[in-house]
Amino acid sequence: MKIVHAASELFPFIKTGGLADAVGALSQSLADRGHEVAVFLPGYRSVLDHPELADAERIHALGIEMGDQVYRGEVLAKKVKKNLTIYLICRDELFDRRAPYGTPTRDYEDNAERFIFFSKAVVDVLSLIRFKADIVHCHDWQTALLPLLLRLDERRRGAFLAGKTILTIHNLAFQGIFPMRVFPLTGLPEELSGVDGLEYYGQVNFLKAGILFSDWISTVSPTYCREIQTPQFGCGLEGVLAKRKDDLFCQLNGIDYDVWNPEKDALLPATFSAKDLTGKEVCQKHLLKQLALKPKGKGPVFGMICRFAEQKGTELLRACIDFFVTNDCRLVILGGGDPEYERWLKELAKAHPERISVTTGMNEKLSHLIEAGSDFFLMPSIFEPCGLNQMYSMRYGTVPLASRVGGLADTVIDVDQHPDTGTGISFPPTAPGLQSGLERALALCADKKRMRATVKRGMNRDFSWERAAAGYERLYDSSL
Ligand code: ADP
Repeated sequence: MKIVHAASELFPFIKTGGLADAVGALSQSLADRGHEVAVFLPGYRSVLDHPELADAERIHALGIEMGDQVYRGEVLAKKVKKNLTIYLICRDELFDRRAPYGTPTRDYEDNAERFIFFSKAVVDVLSLIRFKADIVHCHDWQTALLPLLLRLDERRRGAFLAGKTILTIHNLAFQGIFPMRVFPLTGLPEELSGVDGLEYYGQVNFLKAGILFSDWISTVSPTYCREIQTPQFGCGLEGVLAKRKDDLFCQLNGIDYDVWNPEKDALLPATFSAKDLTGKEVCQKHLLKQLALKPKGKGPVFGMICRFAEQKGTELLRACIDFFVTNDCRLVILGGGDPEYERWLKELAKAHPERISVTTGMNEKLSHLIEAGSDFFLMPSIFEPCGLNQMYSMRYGTVPLASRVGGLADTVIDVDQHPDTGTGISFPPTAPGLQSGLERALALCADKKRMRATVKRGMNRDFSWERAAAGYERLYDSSL
């Protein structure tokens, strides 16, 4: 099949979260399975500077209609491996920025313009290179207008651009909501500015358009797929999703075993496997030393890597923070986001320098070391579409402590409820839930045999992208 992916992030070129990992691994797996895959990505500065893309070739100039103006740009292409070409949509004025979406405190004011331009450019390039895709697969609000723009372009030119379009929702909380005044930039017919189109409480909502006008919609775990159809998790779009429920699918993400494999992870000081965990002890020693934490304590080492946002359970952690000090644990946190929360964590680390370490900013190497060197991994999310770190953790012999929501509920089997198959500790997304989860972690850790068995079961689970890519392939296939 000929498959297009359009996304605003792609590992290893640009990443702010799980979207990059998912699109990176899925496109690679599909290429490995023999499909012809084209991935479209904005030409951010960090992407253009990445060594693997430095020699990307300029293949076309772009002139994209944006309201009553024409925006110039260019498209670069690089075949990165057999069956996989990356197309970079470039216009420095829009994409030559430090971060993809905004500063830590606010989104860029021209995000609507940036991603309308991007989506329109993808349509243009598909036409210019005559790709004739079987599938155009879009991801999140940034590319959610693409299916609609693509069909409109097909009608206007009488041309064929794509068999089926699919929108994957990686996080329904981010919808791309903008003032109605950006609507003319889309070039869509006026009737689509109404309630049956992009309109959402007097504004425009890109994700809503994607849900209404893609041939299929998918999301990244079975539980999240059910949750988003309820008012509690539907973020105001549950009614729109209900309209499309017959075309709504789910496919649990996988993890990229070329990147996340403790047996050959070059970012670690020592490698290890389920059969021999001595390397994991080496990683723990390194981690504690590197962060100047106590090498030994009565309690275990807890890791946490995430965006600092309410979604990730920051308030639950705040409510339970005394636990780590009173039980002589070590807590290693890596992440960034909410500046107020960052400040609180930094102060906490200052007050307990031997027990709590907080590192801010993206740090791929440290993230691997935390996964490998922790005993437990914390994910007290309020909601979690899929979550990747719980899967990385299990793979790295680190027992996840995760709320029972979304993809966490689908991947972490509670060891107290299921003593023979359990791989982690699962609790309701509340402060008392996390507190009791932490206490159960102490009990598990004290029972060496049970702990070891839990670790090994987690390490032996199969979360490969092969499985996930095969799932998408079945969906794509059903259109042929
Ligand atoms: P989300 O996409 O909601 O942020 P996921 O769990 O799906 O959450 O994916 C987050 C990904 O980003 C994981 O691979 C995680 O390890 C990574 N990550 C988050 N923050 C950092 C950071 N500060 N440094 C390195 N990796 C990070």
